[in-house]
Amino acid sequence: MKKSLLINGEWIGTDQYTTLYSPFSGEAIAEIPTATEKETNQAIEAAYQTRNQMAKMPAHQRAKILESLSQLLEQKAEEAAQILALEAAKPITTAKSEVFRTIETYKFAAEEAKRIHGETLPLDAAQGGEGRIAYTTREPIGVIGAITPFNFPMNLVAHKIGPAIAAGNTIVLKPASQTPLSAFFIAELLQEAGLPNGALNVVTGSGIVVGDQIVSDERVNMITFTGSPNVGIDIRNKAGLKRVTLELGSNAGVIIDKGVDIDKIISRCVTGAFSNQGQVCISLQRVYAHEEIYNEFVEKFIEATNKLTVGNPLDPETDLSALISSNDIHRTVEWIREAREGGADIATGGEVTGNILYPTVILNAEPSLKVSCQEVFAPIVLINKVRSIEEAFELVNDSRYGLQAGIYTENVHTALDAAEKLHVGGVMINDIPTFRVDHMPYGGVKESGFGREGLKYAIEEMTELKLVVWNRN
Ligand code: NAP
Repeated sequence: MKKSLLINGEWIGTDQYTTLYSPFSGEAIAEIPTATEKETNQAIEAAYQTRNQMAKMPAHQRAKILESLSQLLEQKAEEAAQILALEAAKPITTAKSEVFRTIETYKFAAEEAKRIHGETLPLDAAQGGEGRIAYTTREPIGVIGAITPFNFPMNLVAHKIGPAIAAGNTIVLKPASQTPLSAFFIAELLQEAGLPNGALNVVTGSGIVVGDQIVSDERVNMITFTGSPNVGIDIRNKAGLKRVTLELGSNAGVIIDKGVDIDKIISRCVTGAFSNQGQVCISLQRVYAHEEIYNEFVEKFIEATNKLTVGNPLDPETDLSALISSNDIHRTVEWIREAREGGADIATGGEVTGNILYPTVILNAEPSLKVSCQEVFAPIVLINKVRSIEEAFELVNDSRYGLQAGIYTENVHTALDAAEKLHVGGVMINDIPTFRVDHMPYGGVKESGFGREGLKYAIEEMTELKLVVWNRN
């Protein structure tokens, strides 16, 4: 199956193609066009030439396109989930839930398109401000360069395209090289939904070539990037005065207080650690359990982990499948070895079959080990004992990252302390850090990035605030 780039409403071929392989079976699944400087330039120019048309499009029409997209995706949800399972080795049940969320994300975008507005300001609060009327409006920012990762290839593309269209912008999308099929699929549906030619352009190819060009081009007004911290920092350094939103990684933690009903939370914690093979930016990587409930938590967590079904992503029984690449297998095996040699106990897992790493639970890991202080992005979770909740706060905060954190506690004062003291973008009380629904403000502090997604918040990032002052004097 040979795919094409989408530029100015046309599906075009390139001189070079790269074979896309299934991460699970290794079979070839498609031929993906490798865009060069020429095609990337054409895509940016198409977005640039279409920006005024999109900026003038009335809100009800932008909303209608997004609403139609959402409906079309609902009709083709099964096909969409199969694509995700194939290109990303995402277990089909998880893939279906991603498609369901994507449908909802575009629906939220359609709704938000109708409520983009400014405010009036009482200028006479300042001396010399009398006799004036002032209000703000929000204008589309123009051309948005969107660069997306492999782990939620459909819903994270939706978090770029949805708010960008809702706000009247045009887009050049560079999806992750391992997961371009879901992006092409959405682009086809958007054409069917009536998006004007040139408003969305999809270019595939290497991040270093295509991504870099989008980041450096002066016609692009904003970069919205979701991916790893290293690439994010590089983009920030190159983007100059462009607006930049960075949604980066983390090593998210949860705190379990004494007095918590462990049976009630185990299955949720196991899901948080191993869903999509741990390849989730808010995957539960570090558990800090109070010494009074530590042994019970560890025992029940391992028991539940060992019940997970590992296998083919297309099998509805599968909980866990392959990592995205063999490089990630080599990296994680090496990190597990380092942990073992560094004095940690590998309580379960650590074995590998093909590109599958079995769900791995590590106890007593020092904070300096890679499995603790770096983002594992794999089915590996640490469970450590703490003597007090204060100690747990310090350990969660002792991180380069700060996306989300969770705490389970029955004590309202402890919960309020957690909300105040945890240095992250979002604190989940009585839940895992892995909780996300798509309209909530979502983003991190420190090396987890800056700027917020969640439709209303992404639209704020993707618009310029303009002030209008009328002088009646
Ligand atoms: P990645 O390697 O950083 O790649 C992300 C995107 O950037 C891909 O499209 C990649 O293209 C492109 N890219 C690579 N080098 C580039 C460069 N020099 N300039 C511009 N673009 C470049 O990340 P990933 O492995 O796909 O995704 C995993 C990471 O994403 C994790 O760190 C995870 O935590 C993070 N993430 C964060 C969030 C969030 O909302 N905070 C959500 C999901 C994932 P190629 O594929 O062609 O290399």
